[in-house]
Amino acid sequence: MNKKYVYLFKEGNASMRNLLGGKGANLCEMTVLGFPVPQGFTISTEACTKYYDDGGKISQEIIDEIFEKLAETEKIAGKKFGDPENPFLVSVRSGARASMPGMMDTILNLGLTDEIVEKFKERTNPRFAYDSYRRFIQMFSDVVMEVPKHNFEVIIDEVKTAKGITNDLDLTADDLKELIVKFKAYFKKVKGFDFPNDPKVQLIESVEAVFRSWNNPRANVYRRMNDIPSSWGTAVNIQAMVFGNMGDNSGTGVAFTRNPSTGEKKLYGEYLINAQGEDVVAGIRTPAPISHLEDEMPEVYKQFVDIATKLEEHYKDMQDMEFTIQEGKLYMLQTRNGKRTAAAALKIAVDLVAEGMVSKEDAILKVDPKQLDSLLHPQFDTAALKAAKPITKGLPASPGAACGKVCFSAEDAMKSAGEGNKVVLVRLETSPEDIEGMNASEGILTARGGMTSHAAVVARGMGTCCVAGCGELKINYAEKYFTVGDVKINEGDYISLDGSTGNVYAGKIATVEATMTGDFGKFMGWADEIRTLKVRTNADTPRDAQQARSFGAEGIGLCRTEHMFFETDRIRSVREMILSENVESREKALAKILPMQKGDFEGLFRVMKGLPVTIRLLDPPLHEFLPNTEEELVELSKEMNVSVDTLKQKCADLHEFNPMMGHRGCRLAVTYPEIARMQTRAIIEAAITVGGDLVPEIMIPLVGDINELKYVKEVVVSTADEVIKNAGVNMTYKVGTMIEIPRAAVTADEIAKEAEFFSFGTNDLTQMTYGFSRDDAGKFLEDYYSKKIFESDPFARLDQNGVGKLVKMAAKLGRETRPDIKLGICGEHGGDPSSVEFCHFAGLNYVSCSPFRVPIARLAAAQARVSEIKGEKNLGQK
Ligand code: ADP
Ligand code: MG
Ligand code: MG
Repeated sequence: MNKKYVYLFKEGNASMRNLLGGKGANLCEMTVLGFPVPQGFTISTEACTKYYDDGGKISQEIIDEIFEKLAETEKIAGKKFGDPENPFLVSVRSGARASMPGMMDTILNLGLTDEIVEKFKERTNPRFAYDSYRRFIQMFSDVVMEVPKHNFEVIIDEVKTAKGITNDLDLTADDLKELIVKFKAYFKKVKGFDFPNDPKVQLIESVEAVFRSWNNPRANVYRRMNDIPSSWGTAVNIQAMVFGNMGDNSGTGVAFTRNPSTGEKKLYGEYLINAQGEDVVAGIRTPAPISHLEDEMPEVYKQFVDIATKLEEHYKDMQDMEFTIQEGKLYMLQTRNGKRTAAAALKIAVDLVAEGMVSKEDAILKVDPKQLDSLLHPQFDTAALKAAKPITKGLPASPGAACGKVCFSAEDAMKSAGEGNKVVLVRLETSPEDIEGMNASEGILTARGGMTSHAAVVARGMGTCCVAGCGELKINYAEKYFTVGDVKINEGDYISLDGSTGNVYAGKIATVEATMTGDFGKFMGWADEIRTLKVRTNADTPRDAQQARSFGAEGIGLCRTEHMFFETDRIRSVREMILSENVESREKALAKILPMQKGDFEGLFRVMKGLPVTIRLLDPPLHEFLPNTEEELVELSKEMNVSVDTLKQKCADLHEFNPMMGHRGCRLAVTYPEIARMQTRAIIEAAITVGGDLVPEIMIPLVGDINELKYVKEVVVSTADEVIKNAGVNMTYKVGTMIEIPRAAVTADEIAKEAEFFSFGTNDLTQMTYGFSRDDAGKFLEDYYSKKIFESDPFARLDQNGVGKLVKMAAKLGRETRPDIKLGICGEHGGDPSSVEFCHFAGLNYVSCSPFRVPIARLAAAQARVSEIKGEKNLGQK
């Protein structure tokens, strides 16, 4: 028997998500549950994969299966596809495994042609029939033929202007008929051939277009941002049309079972009467809140509330639903677990546990770790906010505070953000093309659109502050300014947005740190109870350490001592040390740095109150501490009383062709053991001064050979022991190493003889394993993404197959030699959820990440533990 690629809705269920996509599987599930779903069928994700395997072609076998299932669906509907007397119209809807809002395009009203519409109008009504047909032409042209929807909107606007009307609803049947003629003429003009007039051809071409759209640039960007592999493919749903544009007792809407901004348990949504599909989210007309439906259509409202409640109980999560009302009858078109803000996610997770609907373990899985970030960032200072007067107000579409320079296009926003500016993107409305610019912005302000507009949905997903539908905004894109009444704001001027109230302010408003209490505290408490992987932080200053402690860090996994060398009060001594001609003068300069380093470490130890602190000896090549412009050199020569020539000579001596593989890390300590000696003394003296049960961990970087480690360790140990002996105290310390050179990973069994702990420096380890320069790879990795060589940045998301294999191997070898060896990771990956999950399953003891990512890592570690308990395989390998 042939492999099955097409499933009727009644043949599937929610568990078939991988095969049928999220939308398809849930349409099946709602069908099984007996809810009113227009019937249809789903072409599986395997058919999409096959389409690509077959070189971008749908096989005849699948086409036959599609028409077989179409025939069965026609029977259910009692209509016939392509039959002018009783035409069956369908929608073509994409739906991947993971929801990708707005990434793929939908085609509605497929099955109409010039002939069919004439009959169809007699059975229904002319205005409706022509409206449906002109929409189909627009969508089909846009999605399948690459003629942008917008170009048709221009034609509509011309007709409206000529008629002196502003509202689409005022277009008559004749106007719409005239539009169709214009649309087709326009289509022929730009494409050079007639608009296809055969519904079967239209159907198959639409399916192919959905498959193609899986690979469009904005889908690729979205997937990369959300760790979705391109091998998943998308399913295609073909579904009987129901019509929300049949008159005043028809309509269409979207609703959530709980408020997606706040999490409040109350039906929340919007609908539009006499409208179809995307009208609600396109922001062209302003929709009514769902509560109005209770007055307008009480029976439909009651039925909808009932279905919504049942769906939430069934899926045990907040649902995001799409529905259409055709002549007073309700149809469900979609349900899914709703996207929500971080605050809402926490509240819903905590509430669902309190309501007895889910266990704590399940609740842990309901919050996306990356989302927590938005809660950790500053909010407006209440006093400053009170003192400020808003210039206007829009809808509070996505909470948070944003303050930045105004940009009017996604491109400009990306450019300005790339130059280090904080930007606020201001648009009439946003579209999927804007996604990268939105991602680069602190906040988004739109003039049009509701709470479910593209801008609002995407901003909430990103955790970016958004004020939408700010009707008073008059934007002039050409001259790059906007006005609100007589206030004029130019490109580059600062504005501030309050995503929780919708207020818009001119200028900058002071912000304050977020507070980690309430639902956040409770939820993170559960995460901490469940997880087994510890979370430390990378911190070089008491301030960062304090910040990280408040976010729940359980120690410092990496303190980079070189950052201390750069401070103005000591860089002079550091340079003196570098310029020294012999050990004696170097030691003299180092003696000046010693008390300052000691002070730094005391500060860190005090903040960390006995928690483990790992301090890494000096790592970067020395030339980094010397100035590199002529001007600075002249200045330094005066300051240090050394000739410019001497300085230049020293710089030339230190020059390296490949500094990343140069004289750095433990190699410095091999040449200048006095530096390691000074740092060790500072660490041990600080620990003695602060006292308590402190066990400092001294980490030797960039080791590749056991003998390097042996040599530097001997310097460290002899110094430390001497300091301890002289102080007459009893104290212990640990000496370990970074594993960041592949050779160290490969010989970890030997290295572990000397190292009491390993910390995987996955930034360097990735650099060395791939041979990609950390500092330059970004420039060409873009080509790797667009050519599908890489799906994600290996410096952000751990390369589990290569670098990860080294990590696992080193962990195993290290434990064989020293069973109680402590294993951690301190690269950027320590705060990336999928990499944290990897570390959990690789059996590491802890991850260490920057302070703001500590809560993310805590939650990711808890989620890894929950999936382990549930026996689910490492999801990171998806
Ligand atoms: P998206 O994934 O972008 O939400 P959908 O496939 O859900 O796209 O389609 C967008 C909208 O088109 C739906 O919300 C619904 O309003 C409308 N739509 C889709 N299929 C049908 C249908 N069979 N009948 C009526 N409206 C439909
Ligand atoms: Mg939808
Ligand atoms: Mg390193």
